[in-house]
Amino acid sequence: MTIGLAERVIALKPSASIVARQKVTELQAAGKTIIDLTIGEPDLDTPAHIIEAAISAARGGDTHYTVPMGTPALRKAIVQKLKNDNALEYGLNEVIVGVGAKQLIYEAFAATLNEGDEVIVPAPYWVSYPDIATIHGGKPVIAECPETDGFKLTPQSLKEAITARTKWLVLNSPNNPTGAIYSREELSALAEVLREARHVWVMTDEIYEHLTYEGKALSLGEVAPDLKDRLLIVNGVSKAYAMTGWRIGYAAGPAALIAAMNKLIGQNTSCASSVSQAAAAAALNGDQACVAEAAETFRKRRDRMFELLDGTPGMKLRKPDGAFYFYPSVEGLIGKSTPDGRVLKSDLDVALYLLESAHVAVLDGSAYGMSPYLRMSFGGALEDIEAGCRAVRKSCEALV
Ligand code: PMP
Repeated sequence: MTIGLAERVIALKPSASIVARQKVTELQAAGKTIIDLTIGEPDLDTPAHIIEAAISAARGGDTHYTVPMGTPALRKAIVQKLKNDNALEYGLNEVIVGVGAKQLIYEAFAATLNEGDEVIVPAPYWVSYPDIATIHGGKPVIAECPETDGFKLTPQSLKEAITARTKWLVLNSPNNPTGAIYSREELSALAEVLREARHVWVMTDEIYEHLTYEGKALSLGEVAPDLKDRLLIVNGVSKAYAMTGWRIGYAAGPAALIAAMNKLIGQNTSCASSVSQAAAAAALNGDQACVAEAAETFRKRRDRMFELLDGTPGMKLRKPDGAFYFYPSVEGLIGKSTPDGRVLKSDLDVALYLLESAHVAVLDGSAYGMSPYLRMSFGGALEDIEAGCRAVRKSCEALV
């Protein structure tokens, strides 16, 4: 007898990047060497002082449940971080720790969405926002942000997307998958619209905050402090400190929302790992030189990727300002034929062609809500980026 699955689970697509990952693993298991440019994480090691802090915590008996919202030590570090980096004042009851930023997005939607509440998601978007909103009965409202607008939401598109049912706007800067960063002026212009729409809450996903190559990533909270009472900042240690596997994210927002998320975490994971929380506190409190070094490593990889791919037939590149992804348009490849006579009809066809012919895995833009594009990560090793870009270029040149 098979179990009857819940309708909302049946409706859910598995995360696109996880599907691609599985495909890469399958091909590798079949003996093929695949260069993986899909990865959504830094390949760097977690800095030694952070690992040492975790070891000391474990040895010192820091091995028990913590309160759901996170240890006071980590919450203090988060409050301090928000003050230092973002000029924002939050109290200990206004910040919360989760099992990755992803859990906090999940709990924030769980805490606030009623059936049919709308969540404005500017596209291209990180794949999880629409799905997590849907799980909780929300309705994703996709606001297209074309390349001609730098892949950024304009005040006009925001205005058009807002209805009486809008609960949230999700803003992700620097953006996955485009690397776009909103300037102070652009954030101010969006804030103007939000001031008129008092029922709309804003979730700012700032997880790539420190991985910037052109300009600084600002928090909307800093630019428009008057919106603080309906702003939820989501951030974490995954990307800046190469700590994806430690699973620590954090959020800052109004105490009532944080309390509701706390209640949910208490019935879900109980708390994030105590050892990981000690490590995250060491990351936030410690020397930040490792963050600048990581950003420098990614800048070099970005520049190298640009150098190797620039001029590839059919591919239009723009250098990302932040995060670690290129999002080139492949419009010029649509309609082309592969050497064995197949016509490429979509960005997914292009991605599959590159997997088969170049043995390079990339993600199709359709997974991120805007086609025809590819997402190519420079989170991985320079040798892989170089070999991957050369192979991709060769395969594109082979198209007729
Ligand atoms: N937001 C964005 C935009 C991301 O790219 C990711 C990771 N891929 C996350 C949130 C989640 O990060 P984590 O759960 O590891 O903190």
